[in-house]
Amino acid sequence: MNKPKTVAFEAGERSIFYHILTACNLRCRHCYINPEQHGSNTLSIADIENGLKILRGAGPANVIFLGGEPTLHPDLPTAIRVAKKLDYAVTVDSNGYMLNNFLENIQPDEVDFLSFSLDGPNRAVNDPIRGEGSFTVCTGNLQKAVALGFNVSVIYTVSRANIADLADMIPLLTNLSVKRFFIQVIGLRGKSAPAAKNGGNFGNSPQVSRDEWLAVVPAVAARAAKAGIHVTYPKVFLETAEEFACAGLVAENFFVFPNGRVYRCPLCEDYPVNSYRIEGNSLVRETGLREEAFFALNIAEGCVMNKLLQPDTIEYDAGGAPPRRISCCLLKQEIRPE
Ligand code: SF4
Ligand code: SF4
Repeated sequence: MNKPKTVAFEAGERSIFYHILTACNLRCRHCYINPEQHGSNTLSIADIENGLKILRGAGPANVIFLGGEPTLHPDLPTAIRVAKKLDYAVTVDSNGYMLNNFLENIQPDEVDFLSFSLDGPNRAVNDPIRGEGSFTVCTGNLQKAVALGFNVSVIYTVSRANIADLADMIPLLTNLSVKRFFIQVIGLRGKSAPAAKNGGNFGNSPQVSRDEWLAVVPAVAARAAKAGIHVTYPKVFLETAEEFACAGLVAENFFVFPNGRVYRCPLCEDYPVNSYRIEGNSLVRETGLREEAFFALNIAEGCVMNKLLQPDTIEYDAGGAPPRRISCCLLKQEIRPE
């Protein structure tokens, strides 16, 4: 039986998480987009190209086009072609509505992956989270994309509302011929932040506890791998012997928003602490107290931003010490098909 492996951060490989707009046709319950902090403008194709060039770097690079809903952008197919010319591996993360006839306007060999977001294995679980009718539309377009020959993956955001249904994704993904599955943990950002604060210590928070997570996610991932699906899920909790690493120090991730803000850590995206901004043809380093000032702080709880921004998610023993560290939210476990 294949064992899950921790995917080490790759120095020298870049990933650009490119939010080309924040508008969306859906209103998901856990949406992390925060137009006050991220802007509500739509980048022009010239701006998108400019950002892709500025952030390209010299080594291998990935760009993940995001929104809002990226297929709402009428120039997304052009943006994909520009990114491929610059030798990016390209992924589009979509809610599955495939707007502006996206599937008709791009060829399967022009894009590396189309990722479809589903938060439940059926309408009853998915639609209360993502919106009435979204399961049917998303799975319908996913089938269409598979038939056309696109590489597809599915993203499932685990919360209190759907962790019990995660295992039922395996037969659904098998029926849909999906071979790549990304499980995410709900972030306490955007719309989820107030619920988390009110709930405190997992009361009404949408986030699941360590025990709930460990009781379900690794076992489902292993079963999915047995069924021929390649699964990636966040590490979340480190064991005592495991080393802690902050992606802000050892990896090259850039989270770019339409208002020009560029973050290195996704947990910081609700705050004006971005490390850089895009201005004209340059990536400008921001001054003052910024996210980067915190990355090197060595604390018993592990991720410093988790401790600062989401302290209620940390458990302590009777002596007041955290029994384990929270990993970087970008650290992943991967289990490949058997
Ligand atoms: S599809 Fe994405 S951007 Fe749109 S509401 Fe849902 S989480 Fe937010
Ligand atoms: S989540 Fe924590 S460990 Fe990861 S980049 Fe942000 S501050 Fe660093």
